[in-house]
Amino acid sequence: MGDARAKALLLSLPRSRGRAGVGATSVATEALLQAQVLQARLQPRIPERARDTHARLVRAPATLRAMEAQPRRLGGLLLLLLVALATWALWSGALRVPERWNPWAPLRIDAAPNLLTRFKLDRAASDRDACRAALAQAALDATPLEDRVTGDGCGFDNAFRIARTSVAVGEPFALSCRSALALAMWERHALQQAATTHLGSPVARIEHFGSYACRNLYGREGGRRSRHATADAFDIAGFVLEDGRRVRVLGDWAAGDDASTPEAAFLRAVRDGACDWFDVVLGPDYNDAHADHFHVARGGGRLCR
Ligand SMILES: [Zn+2]
Repeated sequence: MGDARAKALLLSLPRSRGRAGVGATSVATEALLQAQVLQARLQPRIPERARDTHARLVRAPATLRAMEAQPRRLGGLLLLLLVALATWALWSGALRVPERWNPWAPLRIDAAPNLLTRFKLDRAASDRDACRAALAQAALDATPLEDRVTGDGCGFDNAFRIARTSVAVGEPFALSCRSALALAMWERHALQQAATTHLGSPVARIEHFGSYACRNLYGREGGRRSRHATADAFDIAGFVLEDGRRVRVLGDWAAGDDASTPEAAFLRAVRDGACDWFDVVLGPDYNDAHADHFHVARGGGRLCR
């Protein structure tokens, strides 16, 4: 087929040129024609060879893909192995890193928080003895309460009666160990900084509406139990500063986004800081039921408003 096309080309070209009036074929034109004939002969073979190679490639895509994927899979396995090895080395103590960068080192309430602190807090909170050991670092006046069920979905499990935290609290209240630990972290790393930054005086006393109550959410007849039912929640109404000033959620929050007064800015910093250590923090921004207090709790999902 290639030869036939080449011959047709050879026969047609001089005639067409003759008709165009070029005259006798020169030596140069002869050479050009021969080159064209050679090219025409070769042309069909090149695509055939290319088609052949392409067909072979198409026939073996799965094999090629598998060969390509193998190093990637090996790399992934190696990475997993390294992570597992590092985890084991940290956990077993074979690898020594500074305590603040070791996720399995116990929580230190006084240590400056970093990326691992929340993980350490959650770990301590989920274990009875670890929670008590961590809470022992806090300047608390706390008496352990006997574990007991006080009603359907109500009661104490690893809870304390707290008469004083790092500040005065007025009426003593019951609080689960995990929530008491969050409270200690909040006072140490958010409350006092917010007070000195915005009001120029540390907090001396927390004013509260209590913690434990065997009731449903919002005191409704039906529905879920409140975190108050298990002493996991605490309602904070305001603060008394060392210089004697009093800041109340009800009067000093300032509705909307108007945080122009130092008291309103302080209350917002206190609320935002609580979100780092508690799971649920609700205040006046959430609804009218929280217009006069911050509800802070551990457990029951994450919500901060
Ligand atoms: Zn509450």
